[in-house]
Amino acid sequence: MLYNQVQDLKGTIRVYCRVRPFLPGQSNRQSVVDYIGETGNIMIVNPFKQGKDARKVFTFNKVFGANATQEQIYVDTQPLVRSILDGYNVCIFAYGQTGSGKTYTMSGPDLTSEDTWGVNYRALRDLFHLSKVRLDVIKYDVAVQMIEIYNEQVRDLLVSDGSSRRYPLINFLTSNIRNSPQLNGLNVPDASLVPVTCTQDVLEWMKIGQSNRAVGATALNERSSRSHSVLTVHVQGKELVSGSILRGCLHLVDLAGSERVDKSEAVGERLKEAQHINRSLSALGDVISALAQKSSHIPYRNSKLTQVLQESLGGQAKTLMFVHINPEVNALGETISTLKFAERVA
Ligand code: ADP
Ligand code: MG
Repeated sequence: MLYNQVQDLKGTIRVYCRVRPFLPGQSNRQSVVDYIGETGNIMIVNPFKQGKDARKVFTFNKVFGANATQEQIYVDTQPLVRSILDGYNVCIFAYGQTGSGKTYTMSGPDLTSEDTWGVNYRALRDLFHLSKVRLDVIKYDVAVQMIEIYNEQVRDLLVSDGSSRRYPLINFLTSNIRNSPQLNGLNVPDASLVPVTCTQDVLEWMKIGQSNRAVGATALNERSSRSHSVLTVHVQGKELVSGSILRGCLHLVDLAGSERVDKSEAVGERLKEAQHINRSLSALGDVISALAQKSSHIPYRNSKLTQVLQESLGGQAKTLMFVHINPEVNALGETISTLKFAERVA
């Protein structure tokens, strides 16, 4: 073990809750967060109820309040990221309703200042740094993939040839799902795999990935809130003396918004999207809670998301779920359902 900090983390599934601050212009609003305890408790208050029904406590591995910085969030994520260099597969998910801060946690608000960088850039910076520390002992190669899952279809986002067929749907037949021999951890054999040597390389590819996502969007709603994006970082280390190979990978998953859609209002495409999102998020919850309970049957096959990530969920793999909540009173219903989802997997 080169980096054994990960042994400090008990269990393989962790759930962190993060409360988004009120946005500029929302000052003096009432928050649904009553208090955050030192030991991972958060109390939610319902201003429309009285007595003991008005308050409910949820417990996670950790709760980050509205003042938590990107740096503080990353400090608690770092040991997992480092374990990739020891050959672990790690999944980091961002869950929550649209507007609750998922993309802020994963990517940050923008790239102009490193202070506000999200988990993915910090993780890459760390991985590149650490992979160069022992060049006399072990040499690492790093490559990335980026896919999107929309309506249970998988798209490769790292296609930059500029042709009209820029957004190919990967031929994702169920029978085709398998690990390619050189990789492990992501069951999408056809997705572009791009070698990278520094954080800047990855930033460039992520920009391409983001723009491919945006261009695919239809009019009304922002596509990113209705699809899952998965950035996968594959790391392969070769020990110089023994020649032995070690592989690990990190999946950074910005999930589709978890908000429920009113069936009486949504029609057509919107309803179909909502049904796909609900189904895949509940499939993810089912897989993680089955893993947490050490169940003998893990229902990976119920969604593309869990199929794609199968090799990185369970076994020796490590999972971290950030659940995001919006402090506004009018988001209370979604906040409670987010916290219930998270408690089920914790
Ligand atoms: P989501 O990806 O869940 O839809 P976003 O990450 O886009 O949500 O966040 C919604 C808005 O709230 C954005 O303007 C974002 O910059 C802001 N925001 C989210 N989390 C934070 C935070 N922790 N601190 C400051 N602003 C935040
Ligand atoms: Mg987002």
